[in-house]
Amino acid sequence: MNILVLGAGQLARMMSLSATHLDIKVLAYDVGSKTVINPVTFTTTSESLQQAIESADAITAEFEHIPLDILALCQQSGKFYPGAEAIATGGDRAKEKALLDKTKVPCAPFKIITDRSHFLEAIDELGMPLVVKTCQAGYDGKGQWRVKSEAEIDAIWDEMSAFLQAGTQAQPHSIVAEKMIPFDREVSIIGVRTKEGDCKIYPLTENQHTNGVLTLSLAGKEKASIQAQAEEAFSKLANELNYVGVLAIEFFDVEGQLLVNEIAPRVHNSGHWTQQGAHVSQFENHIRAVAGLPIGDTNLLRPTAMINVLGQAHIPPQVLAIPGVTSHWYGKSAKPGRKVGHINVSADSLHKLGEVLAELADILPEQHYPGVMDTAQQLV
Ligand code: ATP
Ligand code: MG
Ligand code: MG
Repeated sequence: MNILVLGAGQLARMMSLSATHLDIKVLAYDVGSKTVINPVTFTTTSESLQQAIESADAITAEFEHIPLDILALCQQSGKFYPGAEAIATGGDRAKEKALLDKTKVPCAPFKIITDRSHFLEAIDELGMPLVVKTCQAGYDGKGQWRVKSEAEIDAIWDEMSAFLQAGTQAQPHSIVAEKMIPFDREVSIIGVRTKEGDCKIYPLTENQHTNGVLTLSLAGKEKASIQAQAEEAFSKLANELNYVGVLAIEFFDVEGQLLVNEIAPRVHNSGHWTQQGAHVSQFENHIRAVAGLPIGDTNLLRPTAMINVLGQAHIPPQVLAIPGVTSHWYGKSAKPGRKVGHINVSADSLHKLGEVLAELADILPEQHYPGVMDTAQQLV
């Protein structure tokens, strides 16, 4: 069986690695260079997108900002999962908010902006500080503004306006303003849904961001009440989208109440811990669902943390000497802030996980791997 993935980054690579032992071959379409590649070896094939679509048994995606014409082409094939609508919803915050409204899943109060008067109304209605985000672009906190005072309004509007004007008739641009939520922490849920509508959901993950980028995730410490809220949101959204594959939902936890931040119609960085912390990883479960195979166990095997490796030339090999530690390299060259790999750490209890993280913190400098020591101290 052959699966074509739109996007050729580390998520396609990890899907391909986990597909290998199912005897499924993965090819990836790099939207930037318009080439079809093997996402593990990075070798380029001579196939065109059209040929790759024809020869694939199933098609999926590793990111949501995909041009609508490519989505339409894949949709026409009848073998695209989770499909054009789900991908487009994850790639457009206005569509995403409409879905949340329709399913009555709580999120931050918001307003969609397409001209300056909407922006001023949003400031009046939602107050400052205000979080403003481009609807059709942005990841890792890019394409966002924080409006903190009247004095900033004009300068921020100039940048917002440039984004709005860059839209086209085929792909119009909009912006969303959200109330700044004073959350206690950020969490996410990852789950998988089959073509028959069966769902399996991993335990909730607690996420730490540094400068808008995920730096550390932790699975295995959640209470049943929070898990149940997240699972309810997952079921409502996945069912409404008639979703097939892995879907991720990011939340703000405000005094035990979850508000959706955003959804990602794909495998997600905050689910990388599942490679060691669950019986079947998010990557394999996504491939299984898309291929029409039975999906696997999503229960936690052991408490597990994931540490992102950002902008480093390599992962310090000494980490591998510590029991319970594995490293995952994406085969990318290092650029400042770029995600180049991650480290998973598992232990038999949260207390022991804290001890291992403390050991790791000695090897991983705080400036490059923020939060490792803090998390260790919270757990022991
Ligand atoms: P990702 O890389 O996860 O796709 P993104 O660029 O799509 O990120 P968001 O997840 O929407 O961006 O926002 C990035 C971070 O900014 C959030 O994880 C959170 O820390 C903060 N943030 C976003 N929206 C709000 C809000 N309404 N109130 C408070 N903080 C927010
Ligand atoms: Mg996002
Ligand atoms: Mg996010």
